[in-house]
Amino acid sequence: MKRRQVLVSMATAATAAALSGLSPAQAASPKSTSGAKAARRIDTHQHIVPPFYGQWLESRGITAGGLPIPKWSAEAALDLMDSNGIESGILSVSTPGVHLGNDAEARVKAKEVNEYCAEVVDKYPGRFGFFATLTLPDVEGAIEQAEYALTHLKADGVILLANVRGTYVGTPEWDPLLQALDRHQARVFIHPSELPAPEVPGIPPYAADFLLDTTRAALNLAKRGCLERYPNLKIILSHAGGFVPYAAERMARICSADGSTEGGIRRLRQFYFDTALSSSAYALPALLAFAKPENITFGSDWPYANKERSSHFTGLLDAYGFTDAQRSAINRDNALRLFPRLA
Ligand SMILES: [Zn+2]
Repeated sequence: MKRRQVLVSMATAATAAALSGLSPAQAASPKSTSGAKAARRIDTHQHIVPPFYGQWLESRGITAGGLPIPKWSAEAALDLMDSNGIESGILSVSTPGVHLGNDAEARVKAKEVNEYCAEVVDKYPGRFGFFATLTLPDVEGAIEQAEYALTHLKADGVILLANVRGTYVGTPEWDPLLQALDRHQARVFIHPSELPAPEVPGIPPYAADFLLDTTRAALNLAKRGCLERYPNLKIILSHAGGFVPYAAERMARICSADGSTEGGIRRLRQFYFDTALSSSAYALPALLAFAKPENITFGSDWPYANKERSSHFTGLLDAYGFTDAQRSAINRDNALRLFPRLA
């Protein structure tokens, strides 16, 4: 470790320590070796970048929310997982997915990506699962690919981007897809994408826009009654739900069936929330106060969050003052109920 990195990680540990009430030494290695291993975490927010897919995006000059497309390999994924006590990672392709404007191309790419994921899952038993990539806004292609991936490739669920070029998950036009997913009792992972608006110069979309994007998708799903119409879906929101927990009381009435705050809160509390990049002592109190205890899952966001960044947030999670039951629910038990095959 270079001197500057040492200083940065010492400062980080000191901050974590101040927030958690631990000494810097305790916070610097919050159960990070033996304790982390014992966590046997299930990571519901871990990405994969199949090499051919990364090259395809690069050839189009595409970034991921302002970040370069990271390199992925199973070895690097397992290294991150082993050093963070992650037993299994549910892999997903991040934004922008596979639909860059052409339905036919998206259908081919989705199939290739999903077949690649299924091979990785097979090759490392117990270590990986995957959320299938679909082809929205091409609804027909998305239904076809969901059927194929969930049935033949044994996908653990599907990933849907919060919006595709300004159309948000929950829009009535996409109801046939939700209906098909509901028939499969699918797990649906909602991941942010770029907002349908210009970015603020100097503020990359992943830094702040992404949180609003997820929040918009959650509100739209709740407002349009999708959670009642498709009761078999289990929907996981990225990054602790954007800012759903923090702003729920303010937003609830607009997504309630009867205009009441309670009705809106009831709907929004049906979501699951992952901890990716959101396990700070600032964010966790709102998440814990809002989410059902059984609806919080662990997320690393690797490799878009690099190893240092992702490990930093895992360290903050481990340093937080949970009860043992809360800790084990978030690390493993809650996700295991969603993905029992990983037991
Ligand atoms: Zn992500």
